[in-house]
Parts: sequence; structure tokens; C-alpha cells
Amino acid sequence: MNLLHEITDPTGMTRRQVAIVGAGLAGPLLACLLRQHGFEVIVFEKRADPRTHPAPEGRSLNLAIAERGLQALRLAGIEQDVLSYAVPVSGRMVHVEEKSSFHAYSSREGDVIWSVQRSQLNAHLLDVAEQKGVRFFFDIDLVAIDLQASRLTTQHGTTFIFDLIVGADGANSAVRDALTRVCDVDCECEILAHGYKELDISVEAARQALLNPKALHIWPRGGYMCMALPNHDGSFTATAFLPLKIQGQQLSSFAALNHRDVVRQFFNSEFNALSRLLCDLEANYMARPVGMMATLHVSRWHYNQTVLIGDAAHQMVPFHGQGMNCAFEDAVFLAQCLAAPSGDIGSALARYETQRKPDVEAIQAMALDNYEEMRARVSSHDYLLERELSAWLEKRYPQRFIPRYHMVTFTCLPYSIAHKRGNIQKDILKSAISGCQTFQQINLVDAERNVLDKLSELPL
Ligand SMILES: Cc1cc2nc3c(=O)[nH]c(=O)nc-3n(C[C@H](O)[C@H](O)[C@H](O)COP(=O)(O)OP(=O)(O)OC[C@H]3O[C@@H](n4cnc5c(N)ncnc54)[C@H](O)[C@@H]3O)c2cc1C
Repeated sequence: MNLLHEITDPTGMTRRQVAIVGAGLAGPLLACLLRQHGFEVIVFEKRADPRTHPAPEGRSLNLAIAERGLQALRLAGIEQDVLSYAVPVSGRMVHVEEKSSFHAYSSREGDVIWSVQRSQLNAHLLDVAEQKGVRFFFDIDLVAIDLQASRLTTQHGTTFIFDLIVGADGANSAVRDALTRVCDVDCECEILAHGYKELDISVEAARQALLNPKALHIWPRGGYMCMALPNHDGSFTATAFLPLKIQGQQLSSFAALNHRDVVRQFFNSEFNALSRLLCDLEANYMARPVGMMATLHVSRWHYNQTVLIGDAAHQMVPFHGQGMNCAFEDAVFLAQCLAAPSGDIGSALARYETQRKPDVEAIQAMALDNYEEMRARVSSHDYLLERELSAWLEKRYPQRFIPRYHMVTFTCLPYSIAHKRGNIQKDILKSAISGCQTFQQINLVDAERNVLDKLSELPL
């Protein structure tokens, strides 16, 4: 039974009906883009409406939006509105022992990432999608997802048939589960051995400590780290990233930090300056859940008239701040494929999957790499020397030598190109600084020759 009306626009054409499962970040954004292309869109969300029922604490409270995410918001016509409540972040402040040093994200003026509240962005996207005519159903439990017939059945026994079903239902996707039941799909979930927990730094504490409000703060400690991202009101959300399991006699794991006293002892000894800024450290630490992080590899993202986007297709670890940015880019690309003149949904989905997959695999790998960089390398001598050389090469060859972080964060170059060129650049830097203690000892002529030989010019 199809309970939807045939929807006809003034030109007499029947509009195609799309179901999006999941009203998190990617779902409502895709809904906006598809409405702009004339699709009729219905979104099913299992939670209550977050605008009236705020989510419990524990999920990342703030997120960084970079160029790929901004590009998607721009296409949906809401970039400037989002930026009005976002905080610009221009680099990392690295805190080692009691010293801090600022590492700008980019040598190019105006390159910043933007910190936003997840809940505010989510509510905003829902409002905008509703204004564009998207219909939302909250508190919906989809008891049957039939991908052969493109049919969804809710807990109320209502059945809907669609021209297209999009699974934007996050890492534990029910649509993906349905996909695995009808066709051969390999799903491999690599769970990181480290978890995360969020803690708060109040406005007053941040002000008193003169925490730079335009920086992402990192306290790297080799095997683990803390970081903090600014909020619009001047407070910060701090996140502790630690191993999940006990390692020898050390306290540095979530399993070992199981009592208020050991929590205080650990933070005082390992993150002394930070521990003085954290509000109600013991109480918040004990009350909040440990978040898990994983990289999800799904061999197939579409079947028949159903497709996956965002975390449902490719959850990644958060260390490049790209999960949402990538999910937004998925939405843009999928909408473009679906709006192509051929109008054939099956071939649009195949094109989306074939073209997008190599890029997603690349950002998943780079996100994992970045954890090592943030917790262990940012304060090492080699890293600082490589950074200096990287800046020098970038200045001389701005269209050839572009730091990987820059390509990922401040451009929309395909992630696979950023990954490939990033690896070449890493080798150039590594071999150039090998055996050198200072910048003056580096053989710059060799390094330049390598850049010219190995990196073509990019039309940035
Ligand atoms: C600690 C941390 C920090 C992060 N920081 C960043 C960052 O700085 N920048 C960045 O770009 N990314 C970041 N990310 C990643 C980002 O949060 C995700 O990639 C992003 O939320 C993915 O969006 P999504 O819409 O695919 O999934 P989600 O945002 O998870 O939305 C999925 C939605 O589907 C709903 N749902 C689930 N199951 C069903 C069902 N059966 N039926 C109906 N609805 C359902 C859920 O309730 C939810 O509303 C971070 C992640 C973590 C864990």
C-alpha cells in the first residue's frame, strides 16, 4: 500500500519521492539539496525531535566545519547563517608541560575552520529543511525495511513505498543492516583501542587561563591526549582520548580510571594545567559515558533503489575533524548524481558509489594517521623541523607543495588526491630532514628538486 499521494508540480510532472532515514547531520542537509532539485522528501528519525528534546550528554558537543562542509552549506543557501554562530579557529595550541606553542593551520590568510555546536547545527538544518517543504517524522521505529520493494513500515503499521531510500542513519545504521540481508556486503568495523570522554571548561576558567579562543588546544602525551574546542559563549568542550584497556601498571586508560580519586590523581599528574580548568572533573568524569571510535569499511553502499551516506556508509575516527564534512560532501555529490538529466536512479547510485568510495577510503586512512600526529608527533623535534621545511617549500611552490592538512581542510580537492600527494610530500620531508638537527643543515636544493620532479602543479 502506498500511503503517499502522487505529488504533481505545476508543470504536470510527477515528483520522485525520497525517504531519508536519519535526521542527524547528513540527512536534513541532503533533504534540503534534494528539495532544491524538485524531489519530494520525507525523513524518518528514531529519536524525538531534538529541537524540543535535547540529546543526552556524551556525544561530541561541538564539531569543526571546514571547506567541504561550508561548500555544502553554501549550496543549501545557509553558509552565512551557520557562520553567525560558529567560532573561527585558526590553528592548534600545543601544550607540553607548562609551555604552549601556536601552530597556524595554514600560511594563507583567512584559512580557518569553524567550531559549531552539534545541537544548534542539527536544529538549524531541521528548520531549514522544513521551510523547504521536507516532512519529518520523529520517534519512528522502522520495523521493516524492504529493499526489494523500496518499502518502509513503521511501528504503527504504516507502510510507505518510495522511489529512493537513503540510509543517513549513522554508524549503527538499520538501512545498512537491511542491505546486508539482501545482497553480499562485507562490513568490517575496526574499533580503535582508544575511547573518548567529554569534559567542560567554563567561560570564567577559560578567561582566567587566557586560553586562546581561536585555537584548538591539544595536550599531547604520546600514548594519549586531551584536546579542547571553543564554543560561541567563550567556554570550551574538552575531550580526553585514552586507551580503553589497562596497560601494565599505568593509570592512563578508561578501565583504570574507575574511581574519583584516581581520576583526580591522573589528571593532576598528566594534565596539571588543564585539570585546574575542568569543571567538576570527578563528577563529570564519573557520570559521562566513554565514546567508542571506529573505522567502518562497507564493501557496497547501494542496492536497487537504496543507498547509504555519511557514517552509515563509512564511519571514521574523528582526528581529522572530517566525518561530518565528508558526510556533507556525500550529500552534495549524491544530489548531483540524482539530478543528472538521465533521471535513472539506479545508474545515479552506481555512479555515486564508484566515484566516492576511493575518496572516502582515503580520508578514513588520513583520519587514523592524524591521531598519531596529534597525540605523539606534534611536539617532537622531527615534526617541528618538517613543519619548518614544509612552510618553506609551500612558500616557494604554492601550487605544487600544499600541506596535506591544507588540501583536506581548506580545499575540496578529492581526498584521494590529498592522500596520494600527502604521502609523496611526507617522503620528501622525511628524507630531507634525515640526520639534520637544524633547518640550516637541510639540503634545500635536493628537497626542491624532489618537489619539481614528483609533484605536478595543482590548479588551486
Ligand atoms: C568525538 C567526535 C568528534 C567529532 N568531531 C568532528 C568534527 O570536528 N568535524 C567533523 O566533520 N566530524 C566530526 N565528527 C564526526 C561526525 O560526528 C559524524 O561523522 C557525523 O555526525 C555523521 O553524520 P551522519 O548524519 O552520517 O550521522 P549522525 O549524525 O550520527 O546521524 C544519524 C541519525 O540517524 C538516526 N538514526 C539512527 N538509527 C535510526 C533508525 N533506525 N531509524 C531512524 N533514524 C535513525 C540517529 O538518531 C541520528 O539522528 C566527530 C565525531 C566524534 C565521535
